[in-house]
Amino acid sequence: MSLKLNTRILAAPSLFPNSNPRGPSEIRFSNRWGKAKADLLSLSLLNQRCRRDQIRCCEKAGGGGGDVSKKTGVWWDLNTCPLPAGFDPRWVLPCIESAVEEEIGFHTEVTIYAMGNLEYISIDLLEKISSSGIILTHSPCDCIAKNPKGLMLFMDDWFGDDFSNPHPPGYVMIISGDQKMLDPWRFRSFGHTTFVAFPKGVRLLAPHAELQFIGELFEYVFAKQFVWETLLTDNLAQETLLYTCDYEPRCICYICDDVYEVCDEFITHLKSEEHRKELFLLQEEARRHLLDLLEEEEISLIEAEKKRQEAASPWGLCVKEFTEWK
Ligand SMILES: [Zn+2]
Repeated sequence: MSLKLNTRILAAPSLFPNSNPRGPSEIRFSNRWGKAKADLLSLSLLNQRCRRDQIRCCEKAGGGGGDVSKKTGVWWDLNTCPLPAGFDPRWVLPCIESAVEEEIGFHTEVTIYAMGNLEYISIDLLEKISSSGIILTHSPCDCIAKNPKGLMLFMDDWFGDDFSNPHPPGYVMIISGDQKMLDPWRFRSFGHTTFVAFPKGVRLLAPHAELQFIGELFEYVFAKQFVWETLLTDNLAQETLLYTCDYEPRCICYICDDVYEVCDEFITHLKSEEHRKELFLLQEEARRHLLDLLEEEEISLIEAEKKRQEAASPWGLCVKEFTEWK
């Protein structure tokens, strides 16, 4: 069977500035490393450069070992890495299961969280995703893309939802077209083997001098880099088409910290006044937090200047060394 992967038109959510309404092939990463004289390099090219033939399992994960108790947690950013046109959402779970299994050599229980600002996704698609065993997670307000702790909080929930019996280190996959989401530094400390998937043609925007380092960092941290569309089509087997889901639907509103087992009720909730109020309160809180940070920043700048002046005196050597070290 051949699937035609058309460029999907994605509504551009203002809260996700990296999303591009022209479609995933046009997505460009934000320039975290500066805007001047930045060069572009496709992550696909980086992937080719950093060919990897073998899976690398982290030491803490205890190797590949064939331990069927291990689990795979998948976080799929719907806003920057949409479902290719014509691809049935019901096929996503079995395709990812198959891709992970092929890499590690045995089957794991895969849980997928489809996250992002779901108000930009059609209700029809949300219902199909929910009925396919994928957990919908409404998480706007840049709580994932801009807040480095956002995704980590989700992962913490998944890893340690039961402290008396936390998940053993297993496998993680992050699917996104947003460079901030794919930042390899985030995934180094968890002790899980981490896979990454990004849309075809997604570009990394960074100063030329940084590109090799970033490529090496991807190579070091991620056990396998997938192109999203290829991951899906390569794992589309005959039995995938017949896949039926027996999971109970689950939908989470990250804003209100509510969980729904009926997708219709979840969608009704997203339109409710109660939800809007929570969203407003959260935005206010974020604004106040930002103002507090700015205030702290001003204080630290004054302190830094004081230390700099002390360092200029003959008695300020220790201070100078400390500030340089910092
Ligand atoms: Zn809500």
